Amino acid sequence: MLRVHALSCGSLEFDRSLFFPADAPGVRMLIPVSSYLIAHPKGKLLFDTGMHCDALTDPVARLGKRIASVFNLRSHRGEDIVSQLAALGLRPDDIRYVVNSHFHFDHCGCNGSFPRAQFLVQRAELTAARAEPKRYDMKDWDLPLEYRGIDGEHDVFGDGSAVLLPTPGHTPGHQSVWIRAGERQFVLTGDACYTREHLEKAILPTNTYDAAQMTASMDKLRLLRDRQGATLLYGHDPEQWNALPRGESPLI
Ligand SMILES: [Zn+2]
Ligand SMILES: [Zn+2]
Repeated sequence: MLRVHALSCGSLEFDRSLFFPADAPGVRMLIPVSSYLIAHPKGKLLFDTGMHCDALTDPVARLGKRIASVFNLRSHRGEDIVSQLAALGLRPDDIRYVVNSHFHFDHCGCNGSFPRAQFLVQRAELTAARAEPKRYDMKDWDLPLEYRGIDGEHDVFGDGSAVLLPTPGHTPGHQSVWIRAGERQFVLTGDACYTREHLEKAILPTNTYDAAQMTASMDKLRLLRDRQGATLLYGHDPEQWNALPRGESPLI
């Protein structure tokens, strides 16, 4: 029996034109930062680890001047992955696998809290992070952790219930997760698609590594929705997030 929980890892506020380049600068928007727990009989999988707690108390020290000047953290107490798991009665050591969609600060900031998990990351993302350390923050990911490089699709539990899907473009080795539990299907898109509006209008955000790759990844997500009947759970969609069951109330 599969259970999936959406976990709140805080919020970020910034200029809307970062997400929607056609918009004039000057309008702020607030987005959720999320993590998902997939509880499978063979082990628990966490999709992304959110932001590091120090990013809230000392953003310049943790995130660096540039990122701290663009993003304002609007997180509340308890909106970090370790607290969110604790509210479900879980400790970090209960997590068998951590899947990082990619190595941006709002997706792998608490990787260091999971020293006993195996990290499943696309090899292309590991290679990019090692080759161009300035693209990412080494404090988040470059830790004595067990990283396993994945090449392409990967069926984590061997029964099709959680399949990693490469969705590059936002970063070189971005990946999403396709969850199947009987009739219910979800795709955790990560930053391959920030919001429903991006998908509907085929909008690429300002921060795009490879536009052609990102367009192809969004097309792939759209097909999963339209042909397979999967519900897409977007990376940072405030409207969708506010309507989702979260924390103790499982999605499935
Ligand atoms: Zn990102
Ligand atoms: Zn993100």
